[in-house]
Amino acid sequence: MDLSNGIEKILWTEEQILERVSELGSELTRDFKSRAITPVVVGVATGAFMFLADLVRKIQLPMTVDFIRVESYGSGTVSNGKPRISCELKVDVRGKHVILVEDIVDTGNTLSCLIDYMKSKGASSVSVCTLLDKPARRKVHFELVGEGKYYCGFKCPDYFVVGYGFDFDEQYRNLPFVGVLKPEMYEP
Ligand code: 5GP
Ligand code: MG
Repeated sequence: MDLSNGIEKILWTEEQILERVSELGSELTRDFKSRAITPVVVGVATGAFMFLADLVRKIQLPMTVDFIRVESYGSGTVSNGKPRISCELKVDVRGKHVILVEDIVDTGNTLSCLIDYMKSKGASSVSVCTLLDKPARRKVHFELVGEGKYYCGFKCPDYFVVGYGFDFDEQYRNLPFVGVLKPEMYEP
């Protein structure tokens, strides 16, 4: 079976993604190299796993890597709005510069919950690096911590996207590009 079956269109190809990830890696390297403490890069599972893997290879600095898991989706395409941390950090972030690596910022609920969590754990700054941002759907305002900065790969039109880590019902994560599903794929 062809992996791309069910994809209506590609929004960003593998090459476009890798080029942008490389730029983000250079920006992060430049911005964090003067800080005395090595950053803690925290990927938000599962969606950010591929972005995280590509991104950290483009950050030329010593760092710690960890994952955190937040649950806010059922098996549909609309968030239930109440994110819950379902798998905690292993690394102690007290006094550290945290870089949260997200797949997408949609309503902002997940990010706002994660930033509060990092603050409660004593992080000295919290930055966010997200592959995609859907500004049209923002509901919750979030504030970064300390000297935290916001990095974004691409502004995403208001589609439900899959591929490069993004799933629909736990499938399509392994596609090397980001695309939009055919509407009939949502139907039972
Ligand atoms: P938020 O809490 O900002 O509403 O949503 C954040 C989470 O919703 C993301 O981390 C992601 O897991 C999921 N999400 C939002 N938009 C999309 C989308 O277009 N496709 C997929 N697969 N997940 C999405
Ligand atoms: Mg996510």
